[in-house]
Amino acid sequence: MDGPGEILRAAARGFGARPALVTATRTLSFAELDALSDRVAAWLTARGVRAGQPVSLYAQNRWEWVVAYHGALRAGAVVNPVNVMLTPEELAFVLRDCGAAAVFTSAEQAAAVVELTRDLPDPVTVVAFGQAAGAVAFDEVLACDGPVPDITVDPAAPSTIGYTSGTTGHPKGAVQSHRAVLLNCALTATMHGRTSDDVVVTALPAPHVYGNVVINGTFLVGGTVVLMERFDPAQALRLIGEHRATLFEGVPAMYATMLASPALESADLSSLTRCTVGGQTIPLSTIRRWQDRSGAPLIELWGMTEIAGLGTTHALHSPPVPGSIGVSLPGIEIRVSDLEDPSRDAPRGEPGELMVRGPIVMIGYHGNPEATAETIEPDGWLHTGDIATMDDTGHVFVVDRRKDMIITGGYNVYPAEIERVLAAHPAVGQVAAGPVPDPVRGELACAYVVLAPGAAVTEEELIAFAGGSLAAYKRPRLVRFVDALPATSTGKIMRRELIKQFDA
Ligand code: ATP
Ligand code: MG
Repeated sequence: MDGPGEILRAAARGFGARPALVTATRTLSFAELDALSDRVAAWLTARGVRAGQPVSLYAQNRWEWVVAYHGALRAGAVVNPVNVMLTPEELAFVLRDCGAAAVFTSAEQAAAVVELTRDLPDPVTVVAFGQAAGAVAFDEVLACDGPVPDITVDPAAPSTIGYTSGTTGHPKGAVQSHRAVLLNCALTATMHGRTSDDVVVTALPAPHVYGNVVINGTFLVGGTVVLMERFDPAQALRLIGEHRATLFEGVPAMYATMLASPALESADLSSLTRCTVGGQTIPLSTIRRWQDRSGAPLIELWGMTEIAGLGTTHALHSPPVPGSIGVSLPGIEIRVSDLEDPSRDAPRGEPGELMVRGPIVMIGYHGNPEATAETIEPDGWLHTGDIATMDDTGHVFVVDRRKDMIITGGYNVYPAEIERVLAAHPAVGQVAAGPVPDPVRGELACAYVVLAPGAAVTEEELIAFAGGSLAAYKRPRLVRFVDALPATSTGKIMRRELIKQFDA
């Protein structure tokens, strides 16, 4: 197998009639998914889409999305999975940036997509999962009886262009090789002990690398994916019981809302054998509470678009190391580098930048050689932009993002530390910290606080509270009370927007 485009073909051979994908509208076996993907491949080829051309997917988690993904890969296209939460303007940026030849989208969004493609330099074919004016209907695509192209895949060539979440700036298109995507699915499946007996319930967005390794990593071993179109805590809890799910996988906010849901009390979680969580830091209390309630270990993982999925996680039966994102995937090198000199390692246990090397590392950022050169060292080490520490057993602990570091009077201050301390104050609902310029110290740490419902507290009280646990140089010097914090679609706080929104 040379790439993710071959996963379904192999699974259809081994597990043909077994259920591969369950969605609200349709259940498909591996054989059915495989046959439908062939139709998409045949149609794209008949339509003149050439090998290596990007084909974008902009829709909710639906069975059609999965079919279009595999069909496009089978046609030799480079798949560009787009976050469905992006606005039409943001989508236009991505389509223009990657030069998409076709876009698959939902019937509801098709009109807006058709409209924005009119302004693009090259013609773009729009396919709608349903009927929409100006778009080709997906049924028509599936009715194509043309020949399925017989392509050979170079494992080192691009398979997908995944855009980063845009937490720290404009999203960047990470060009991922066939080998990187396939290997990440396989290594993740190994670490979490996936088998054909697994039934995975997830609402992770299919376009995101975490969603991709869960969906395709499960198909790879013949397991079943129950894919939610969008996350809803009560529905997720119901689906786990109804399908006797062995795994639930999601971001921290999903666990927090399931734990807070009235549906939790009557939920049957007895079938779960383990769950996974990642994408951002998860409070230890959430991990403990979910494990207590479900009886299943909640396995932390860390990943990023630039490595086509995970970089670290815990193996299924390894002893738990609370708060750690785990160890490197088998065969993948990681290290923590000195912040000043990336060729040197940071001393054991000291914070430095997490670096990754190996076949999962992206080819580069699409159309951005400068950013690629800044991110990948000539000897292959990828700068993750995350500050982390590593212990003697190789377990990694994320501290914060390098770009978000506040430098005040020559000291490095990590916003996450300030946020963790202030979050423990009863009047604080949500908190994020960021820098504000200061003529003397360069930058000062400012905490932006959304008050808990009905709560009241003063700036002085919060600064004093933080002083109880933080060294003097780390203390926030300013507190701003705000109504809401700027966040991405998966709930990551965009700290760089704070100062723009509230202090500009
Ligand atoms: P952008 O690069 O555009 O700013 P992004 O980095 O949020 O956006 P992704 O590739 O989706 O885009 O996310 C990867 C990042 O998510 C990691 O670099 C890390 O900062 C964060 N992350 C992922 N998993 C974890 C985790 N378990 N704990 C803490 N942070 C995590
Ligand atoms: Mg990033």
